[in-house]
Amino acid sequence: MSMMLLDKLEQQIDALNDKSLRRRRRTADGGCAPRVTVDGKPMLAFCSNDYLGLASHPRVAEALREGASLYGAGSGASHLISGHSRAHAQLEEKLADFMSPHLESARALYFCTGYMANLAVITALAAGNDAAGAGGSTEIFSEALNHASLIDGARLSRCKVHVYPHGDIVALEQMLAASTAETKLVVTDSVFSMDGNLAPLPQLLALCEKYHAWMIVDDAHGFGMLGEHGRGALEHFQLKSPYLVYMGTLSKAAGVGGAFVAAHATVIDWLVQKARSYIYTTAAAPALAHALLTSVDIISGHEGHQRRNQVQRLIGRLQQELRLSRWQLMPSATAIQPLLIGDNAEALRAAASLYQQGLWVPAIRPPTVPLGTARLRVTLSAAHTTLDVDQLITAVNAMEAAA
Ligand SMILES: *Cc1c(COP(=O)(O)O)cnc(C)c1O
Repeated sequence: MSMMLLDKLEQQIDALNDKSLRRRRRTADGGCAPRVTVDGKPMLAFCSNDYLGLASHPRVAEALREGASLYGAGSGASHLISGHSRAHAQLEEKLADFMSPHLESARALYFCTGYMANLAVITALAAGNDAAGAGGSTEIFSEALNHASLIDGARLSRCKVHVYPHGDIVALEQMLAASTAETKLVVTDSVFSMDGNLAPLPQLLALCEKYHAWMIVDDAHGFGMLGEHGRGALEHFQLKSPYLVYMGTLSKAAGVGGAFVAAHATVIDWLVQKARSYIYTTAAAPALAHALLTSVDIISGHEGHQRRNQVQRLIGRLQQELRLSRWQLMPSATAIQPLLIGDNAEALRAAASLYQQGLWVPAIRPPTVPLGTARLRVTLSAAHTTLDVDQLITAVNAMEAAA
């Protein structure tokens, strides 16, 4: 057997290491919570997307146990064979009902992960023309800072992809106006995962309606967090349109796992017929869907509201109390509060220094973010206390003062 490939892999990993780009994992003992033990050391974490603290919520954990006793540990098959359980069906009904103020004839489809949901939506909608035998074409208009799963979905669709610059409505309109494609899909994150800012969804939707384009919104960081009832970016901006296809993840604010697509019933039916990342994979454990029934109840109820308010208070405190000179808090009103550093090695050093002080904040480097914009991605959660956030503020301010 030739070992040449192994040699090449090692060389490339060494090269990544030299550029401070090598990725490593840390092993956390115990559940996802701000106070966590990592390699035997007690840490205070600002890295998880468990924005409402539901991953460690006693009622959600109890619902998961109840789900396991009702349905067992696994689903046993794909949804179209025999893996579609009552729990999945109940969750889909609940989510469709929850999102119905913003969608026409809403139905929902539960996926194992958000990554798979994004692949499904883009590839299946792009294939809509072919199957009709009309010989029509599909083109995709993709925001420059979109999540990797949207980019991969667009690639997999083999459609022509136009990437429009971040937040640039004018550039997008020029691209839409110039396109003769029969089906146009505008694809965007609602909350940009490494920046925390919002896409201008009302303006994007107006363009979609003007040019008869579909708008696929990835609300991974908005669902549960934005809007009075936690319905996410569509509620935040009060949007409703038959052109909307909504993807929300259930692994972040909802605290469990999986994702859902909510859209017009015909779109959902089409996904069930054609979406390969839905059809050719085993259904997620029904117990997860069962636990998510409780998550969605919490999100939509009084407690969800209180938890969202707690996150807003913590965001305000961080923004007010940080004293920065070299670094910059990026403009964001969401639980994602990135501290822009720039240089990869400096970002790693800052993260390492915080880590030594018991504060776990991840350094995010290219290619996840553009070159020269390495950052500490601080995420806040309703499970954090004011004292937790003060500890982070004190440590960062001390590093800045020492520079
Ligand atoms: C996390 C995330 C996804 C993927 O969701 P998973 O359920 O983790 O696979 C998709 N899009 C965005 C913007 C995300 O942040």
